[in-house]
Amino acid sequence: MSASLPPPILPGATIGVLGSGQLGRMFTIAARALGYRVHTFSPDDDTPTGQVADREVCRSYDDLDAVRQFAGEVDVITFEFENVPSATAAAAAERAPVRPAGALLELTQHRLREKGGLRARGFPTARFLPIRSLADLEGGLRELGAPALLKTAGWGYDGKGQALIAGVDEAAAGWRSLATDEAILEELVDFERELSVIVARGQDGGLVTYGPVENHHVRGILDLTLAPAPVEAGLAARARELAAEVARSLELCGVLCAELFVTARGDLLINELAPRPHNSGHYTIDACVTSQFEQQVRAVCGLPLGSPEQVRPAAMVNLLGDLWAEGTPRWAAALADPRVKLHLYGKREARPGRKMGHLCALAASLDEARDAALAARRALAGS
Ligand code: AMP
Repeated sequence: MSASLPPPILPGATIGVLGSGQLGRMFTIAARALGYRVHTFSPDDDTPTGQVADREVCRSYDDLDAVRQFAGEVDVITFEFENVPSATAAAAAERAPVRPAGALLELTQHRLREKGGLRARGFPTARFLPIRSLADLEGGLRELGAPALLKTAGWGYDGKGQALIAGVDEAAAGWRSLATDEAILEELVDFERELSVIVARGQDGGLVTYGPVENHHVRGILDLTLAPAPVEAGLAARARELAAEVARSLELCGVLCAELFVTARGDLLINELAPRPHNSGHYTIDACVTSQFEQQVRAVCGLPLGSPEQVRPAAMVNLLGDLWAEGTPRWAAALADPRVKLHLYGKREARPGRKMGHLCALAASLDEARDAALAARRALAGS
């Protein structure tokens, strides 16, 4: 098998990143540590990624000539968010290898395709139905039962584009609120906890997994990650194996996150896939031998993967723009605890709900790490 692999792309080469947010920033920092150059492409300027990259190209994703030119100047292309249009990925692929492949991006940027694809491959998900009209929704609520969750099929993230529908009499208002012509209706899973597993898979099929970690959301946005998840070893092993099987089945080259629900019966359901590093894996920068971002660099460049071993229990809390409501957060107060690490993404404008940075606390136990991370965030706000 290895005889037919393309040669590795070695340090000194240039990696192109489609997208320019915080994931691209942390990827770029890892890539530059390994001696690569990084170019980033997105419609914005002075971006979290652009601030740390060698070159920031500021053009529309629909400008396919600009995409081709960008791709012609790099050795490999990856992406840091999955809502890059598929025509953009295809244009890039004319000039440079795109890893993971654009087909994976297309699958995961559309909830119906993603859940349908998972089901077709035999993976467990919540029951769901495609919804293209109010009549579909009313019928769907009768079939799946209410309450149920209605989500836009495309372009959703962080709980955006979702409506909880309590019953058939709320269907019309719920359908209007989404303002879409294609949605997915999902049964409401009465989950015991939410886990995620990050998988890195190289070109040669070599694969490592992280976690699972336990995730807590507030208003649909990740708030707190506990690593490792405090679950029994058998469940943890099943979660890792499930995510690894998904990565193999999709022929991943890169990093993928599988978000999982654990039901009251201890079954695992896949909620969502992200074909890239994930917010719930940010703890790997501080707590693991190799971060999820370094693994993405290694995987897309055809290098051997690093050890995913976690060296200390860790807790990660997100810092949203809401923290800026009373003025600049008190950075020194949060860092007064030497076990706490601060990561800021360089975003100019702090808006409510916008991810501006995160804190990661490392401690001797998971409880101590969680308490330290939460206390540091409280200290930031001065409360
Ligand atoms: P998503 O954007 O699909 O990742 O959803 C954001 C969050 O909403 C998830 O992390 C869950 O906490 C919750 N959620 C999503 N889908 C379901 C579901 N089918 N049943 C229960 N909770 C859900």
